[in-house]
Amino acid sequence: MDRPSFLIRPEEVESAAKQHGVSVLQLLPLLVNPAKSLARPPISKFSVVAVGLGSSGRIFLGVNVEFPGLPLHHSIHAEQFLVTNLTLNSEKHLRYFSVSAAPCGHCRQFLQEIRDAPEIRILITDPNAFRDAAAEDDDGDGDGFVRLESILPHRFGPDNLLEKDVPLLLELHDNRLTLLSDSDLQNVGICNGHTDSDLKHTALSAAKRSYSPYSRCPSGVALVDCEGKVYRGWYMESAAYNPSLGPVQAALVDFVANGGGGGFERIVGAVLVEKKDAVVRQEHTARMLFQTIAPKCEFKVFHCYEY
Ligand SMILES: [Zn+2]
Repeated sequence: MDRPSFLIRPEEVESAAKQHGVSVLQLLPLLVNPAKSLARPPISKFSVVAVGLGSSGRIFLGVNVEFPGLPLHHSIHAEQFLVTNLTLNSEKHLRYFSVSAAPCGHCRQFLQEIRDAPEIRILITDPNAFRDAAAEDDDGDGDGFVRLESILPHRFGPDNLLEKDVPLLLELHDNRLTLLSDSDLQNVGICNGHTDSDLKHTALSAAKRSYSPYSRCPSGVALVDCEGKVYRGWYMESAAYNPSLGPVQAALVDFVANGGGGGFERIVGAVLVEKKDAVVRQEHTARMLFQTIAPKCEFKVFHCYEY
């Protein structure tokens, strides 16, 4: 099988399943190994791939991404990449995914932010991992998928902290944010054909989609590469705090998925939009990340407020 893309449309999914004589669910584990070369693990050299089926019938990929020179907790796990890929493409639900190695505790926790997370079904392709859970295949249909609940019982998640009607991670968010001052709009800096204002509004739109129900500190990032292509991502929180994914990492998911495979040094401009005086601020971490992975990147911060 050829190396898959990070997003596979329903008609391509159907056609690939037909070509291999398998069901769509059976296709998920078949895509795992061919996607391993998309991972970026320069530190661990351990490639992880997660392949998920969204409720729209599209298939999404996630891979692990590591950053030499930075502490390990800035890494993007494959399952987090997958979930970010879903949000960037407005996918409403994830019910099945296949993954090359047993999800770590961090990812089992991060997945709790998806509605009905205990029911998400997971198939681990590593035959040496997870034999016991595979044996649990709880609905007895023998498809090899196990419920997330079976590998993370007694969960702590959004139910413990949020009202039932709060939109969860894959649900629609339209944070009521506006830029702090119209005078900012007068900036006319040019970054590869994009004015600050373009990038600022892309970052603001991203911040509006940010999922930060615990801190109420949404933020968004816009990046531009040396060819002038723009990427965006937004902050996503976890009820357990530490598995939260920063807005820079989320934008880097967009870059890895849609940037044609180049290195991070291709990123030449970045804008962060967040609330002024937020209790959870991204500015300092974002600056450090860019200084390390894309030292030539011009980084700017603009503040917004909630109305
Ligand atoms: Zn993980």
